[in-house]
Amino acid sequence: MSASLTSPPSAAAPAPFRNEDIRDFSDPADRRSLAAALERARAALGRRYPLVIDGKKVETGKWIDSRNPARPAEVVGTVASAGLDEAHAAMDAALRAFETWKRVPVEERAAVLFRAANLVRERRDDFNALLVLEVGKSWVEADADTAEAIDFLDFYGREALRYADPPKLVPVPGEENRLSYIPLGVGIVIPPWNFAFAIMAGMTTAAAVAGNTVVLKPSSDSPVIAAVFCALLEEAGLPPGVVNFVPGSGRTIGDALVAHPKTRFIAFTGSKEVGLHINELASKTQPGQIWIKRVIAEMGGKDSIVVAADADLDAAAQGVAVSAFGFAGEKCSACSRAIVEASVYDAFVEKLLANVAKLSVGDPSDGPAVYMGPVVNEGALNSMLRYVEIGKKEGTLLTGGSRVAGLDGWFLEPTVFGDIAPDAVIAQEEIFGPVLALIKAKDYDEALVIANNTEFGLTGSVYSRDESKLERARDEFHVGNLYFNRKSTGAMVGGHPFGGFNMSGTDSKAGGYDYLLLFTQAKMVSKKVTAAGNGRSGGE
Ligand code: NAP
Ligand code: MG
Repeated sequence: MSASLTSPPSAAAPAPFRNEDIRDFSDPADRRSLAAALERARAALGRRYPLVIDGKKVETGKWIDSRNPARPAEVVGTVASAGLDEAHAAMDAALRAFETWKRVPVEERAAVLFRAANLVRERRDDFNALLVLEVGKSWVEADADTAEAIDFLDFYGREALRYADPPKLVPVPGEENRLSYIPLGVGIVIPPWNFAFAIMAGMTTAAAVAGNTVVLKPSSDSPVIAAVFCALLEEAGLPPGVVNFVPGSGRTIGDALVAHPKTRFIAFTGSKEVGLHINELASKTQPGQIWIKRVIAEMGGKDSIVVAADADLDAAAQGVAVSAFGFAGEKCSACSRAIVEASVYDAFVEKLLANVAKLSVGDPSDGPAVYMGPVVNEGALNSMLRYVEIGKKEGTLLTGGSRVAGLDGWFLEPTVFGDIAPDAVIAQEEIFGPVLALIKAKDYDEALVIANNTEFGLTGSVYSRDESKLERARDEFHVGNLYFNRKSTGAMVGGHPFGGFNMSGTDSKAGGYDYLLLFTQAKMVSKKVTAAGNGRSGGE
């Protein structure tokens, strides 16, 4: 039997997948337990986390401090920084582990994910607390990130079992034919910091459950949560070497890992610039390399919400505000452009600004009433402030535009610019912060043209009561994830497979039924069992 996803699902198949419930913290018990977890996390701040290569803890003498962006003096944890030697050692460990892991029955591999999901459930408050402290998520956003991580574990575990039992082939007389999905080899997993838990855990475990082994290079802005998750995977029974944890500089070890001749695939989520760089580097064949590396690259967005003249303006204003300013606009799906039909532009702006004025900004560790926390680091804040200056020249600053007074961390006010031209810099470039551009369209036709005028194609939304307008958008609005009469953020695992078009990436549809395919290759074995044939002499 060849490696991997070939064994049938076990008799005790898991219950059908369902999304984990999300807390809203109106329940005092939920509030108390997260407050207590934050206290525990604060008491344990400053821990050191080594690399983990082949199950062994490795220190390098070089460290990365992960800081709380709401209180930059607070070091959440210190993580060992890998150099080239450790990157190569991690690759060797993953290569060795692949030889055994690929032969572990799929039920056992899936069981590791199910056990991990349960361990995360038990420690949900601790993971939420870490997300609040390490990347500045509000309580609700932190809980949604943790719930999505649980969903990925539960969903990909089930998917591995499903792929082990592929659809029947068309019968060929006289033959017994079987197609199986086998793993690829060693993958480099490079996640971003913005869904510091869910995306990191999702990419890593999708690769592993399909029978691959992984070198995980976390974001330098969120390495602690990745370290804690890797320790949890070990507890869940993941054998040494299957996931090797090597934080370090993207530019140095990232490049070395991507370029390594034994790297079989790269699963990346992050900016367009880094994604394109990885794609280019991976496409260059290295001495000794005997395959074409597969690159799964999910990249940036410049997502639009179209507000048609017939829309429910209250719902649209609320949806735009939530999509633009939830987690300070640091979601690839965030609305950074609202394209509004001219006849309702003024009325929409008034309602939008009323919504924005209600958003509370502060240190999310203060409690669930804080809606929007800091942005991730000083460099990100400075980049946003440069876009604010550009925006002031390109349109009218309607609200925000400054650092939040009285707070030490990297806080930017929710910022809205009006009267922005469709081709303005702040209408075209990803800012990845709480900065929204309002664009006036003379009618719905023009609004759809503007909606498609960037190089990206990740998410979008249309507010309209007119079915025919929505149906036109279904055809013409070219994005991977399109929503009608709702916010552009908040994709659910299983319900909204996620990934974008054009410069937003390879449309991998994370959390969907096609995703595990990206981490496998199909092998066809055809066995002659009787003298009968299909009578054809030609063919592939
Ligand atoms: P980023 O700056 O591109 O970094 C992403 C990852 O790439 C980090 O782990 C980073 O490590 C690493 N990296 C940097 N240079 C590298 C290199 N030369 N070789 C290999 N790896 C390298 O993105 P980010 O700031 O973390 O995340 C925000 C971006 O992600 C936004 O553009 C957002 O739209 C996008 N995003 C997209 C999706 C999606 O599904 N399409 C989802 C979430 C986020 P270091 O931290 O060490 O530099
Ligand atoms: Mg940080």
